[in-house]
Amino acid sequence: MFIKFFVVLIVSLFSTPLFADTKGPAVPNYPLDKLAENIYVIHGPITTPNPQNQGFMNNPGIILTSKGVVIVDPGGTVQSGEMVLRVLKTISNKPVVAVFNTHVHGDHWLANQAIQARYPNAPIYAHPETIKKIPEGAGQEWVQLMERSTQGKSIGTRIVAANHPINNSDKITIGDTSLTIHHYGVSHTDTDIMIAVDTNKALFMGDNLFNGRLPRTAEGHIGRTIEACEKIIKINPSVIIPGHGKSGGKKMFYHSLDVLRILYTTVRQQYELDLSDFEMKPVVVKALDKYKHWETFDSLVGKSISQAYLEIEQADF
Ligand SMILES: [Zn+2]
Repeated sequence: MFIKFFVVLIVSLFSTPLFADTKGPAVPNYPLDKLAENIYVIHGPITTPNPQNQGFMNNPGIILTSKGVVIVDPGGTVQSGEMVLRVLKTISNKPVVAVFNTHVHGDHWLANQAIQARYPNAPIYAHPETIKKIPEGAGQEWVQLMERSTQGKSIGTRIVAANHPINNSDKITIGDTSLTIHHYGVSHTDTDIMIAVDTNKALFMGDNLFNGRLPRTAEGHIGRTIEACEKIIKINPSVIIPGHGKSGGKKMFYHSLDVLRILYTTVRQQYELDLSDFEMKPVVVKALDKYKHWETFDSLVGKSISQAYLEIEQADF
């Protein structure tokens, strides 16, 4: 009797998974916005990862070429990538032939897993520093950050890192479409690439540009992000896709860039008046008044002022 009980117990222990839910729920379909001929973006929520957005909060790009589909930044969870593939099916039956990751942050690339599961031969391109940093810990950090901030909705997501290094001025031709890579050193991070499509009809900025949310700049350099933006705009792109927030033209670009420019110039003026970072905060916040409704403004403006202050102080020596 007891033996039978233990056999049943042991068998059931080994056959039942430790957690009933080994995969978080599907991400619902989001609208697909056509920005130019053969160029589409799924604009994710502007919020940071939370249980409501389930870790989907970036701007996956879809480029249709004569050879197949190119995906830029497929999303932040395996479930996001599966959603992108479902939505893609509504406009194309062609296979995914290449994936690009704009930088090391997992909210942009953790969905590689879903694309690779379906299209194992599609190369995944990224800057060499992205490819290097993911196995060194950045990948695991992002898997955990997503699980924590979505309260487990991202479970099932695992690391599939980019495997094809690309760098500044590389040109990649896919069927009838050519992509030009821009990397200007440290900006949002030291891993960023920006991707221009064909004769600059569209430009994927990655997180060098945010529209409607204050960027997290701790791993990068605010001053050099401004410089990278001022340099890239000279290629004269028609449509500009920020890492987060709605795409647009030059008006959107300059409005979004100005949050960093105003921050920087005001901090510099106050620095020259010998004010410390916390003393100057009210003046800087006032100068940024038209951005105060932006997502993460309250949580990040103090940190951004301190970082700009340190950058300016460092340049001063
Ligand atoms: Zn980022």
